Amino acid sequence: MNTRIWLSSPHMSGGEIKYVNDAFETNWVAPLGPNVNAFEKELSHYLSVKYCAALVSGTAAIHLALINLGVGPGDEVICQSFTFSATANPIVYQGATPVFVDSEDETWNINPELLEKAIRDRINKGKRPKAIVVVHLYGMPAKMDEILSIASKYDIPVIEDAAEALGSRYKDKCCGTFGAMGILSFNGNKIITTSGGGALISNNHDFIHKARFLATQARDNAPHYQHSQIGYNYRMSNVVAGIGRGQLEVLDLRVKQRRENNKFYRDLLGEVKGIAFHTESSDSYSNYWLTSIIIDPKITGVTREDLRKGLEEDNIESRPLWKPMHLQPVFSGAPAYTNGFSEYAFENGLCLPSGSNMTDEDRDRIANQLKKILKF
Ligand SMILES: *Cc1c(COP(=O)(O)O)cnc(C)c1O
Repeated sequence: MNTRIWLSSPHMSGGEIKYVNDAFETNWVAPLGPNVNAFEKELSHYLSVKYCAALVSGTAAIHLALINLGVGPGDEVICQSFTFSATANPIVYQGATPVFVDSEDETWNINPELLEKAIRDRINKGKRPKAIVVVHLYGMPAKMDEILSIASKYDIPVIEDAAEALGSRYKDKCCGTFGAMGILSFNGNKIITTSGGGALISNNHDFIHKARFLATQARDNAPHYQHSQIGYNYRMSNVVAGIGRGQLEVLDLRVKQRRENNKFYRDLLGEVKGIAFHTESSDSYSNYWLTSIIIDPKITGVTREDLRKGLEEDNIESRPLWKPMHLQPVFSGAPAYTNGFSEYAFENGLCLPSGSNMTDEDRDRIANQLKKILKF
């Protein structure tokens, strides 16, 4: 059997280990320390954002963002339906209800018209949404101008889930820096990784200050341990932050490599009828974390599952697009404003292997297999 080609696997540069060694040599093997401080500074600088808190995960970052906005039991939070469950779960951690909104077909992200319709309908029902969670899916920037103008019209803060979009830009500004707060993830499959980790970013000092406080068990300022609020153990470790510092040094290279993979697929499949790519607009620059396509089986004669299983035959991993949250059993009771797009995309869409560490040999194997399945 050929070695497995993964959808997206960790890609170390070699530069990480010196920061990890620093942590060991100075005995900063702790959930704070010089690597954490430096990683936050370097990340803020890269993103041109004022403040950043390094955390254990992107999920923790979303949770703290919701707490910062005062989301609590009985509240409603609007959430993009077409995403990974981690976007929505923290809404439920807070005892609030997610209200799901479907996507538009250009960016595959939250549909601005449907968003406004949902807001008006919730307000008519006496429930003013406490926040809007927008996702930049697979690295593709959402229509931020439209979304922010609706959000400000109704005075509802926006949380940007940029877990998949580090290095992506909208109108030359980094994804994650448009809303009241943005979140990033450094999980093992993301464009850069710390094995596991995340960050909360904002230009609002108070949000990040409060997030750091809550992430370290909400200790009051006293010589003994005193608590006036419920806290969390969400701070990134100084060892892990060392990996992050080394990864950040190659982030631009990783974006370039992912974009080259995207070009490889476009060159390969460009002439094949019935295949549509997830594509950036003139306003946006995607990190193309995962190259994703939607297959029209009536034209190709091949379904999404034919394609996925065909690739699997040569030990090549691919994955259906996210199953929308409004179709998930766990969220079956949540209100949803749908238009059919995310359901269609889920049924017919596939993420192709997109790791920055794929070799020419890997790409040849993928090309051969795709030619075999799609007969071109
Ligand atoms: C990965 C991911 C998250 C969660 O990040 P973790 O660091 O794994 O907790 C949230 N939202 C989206 C869209 C993601 O892809």
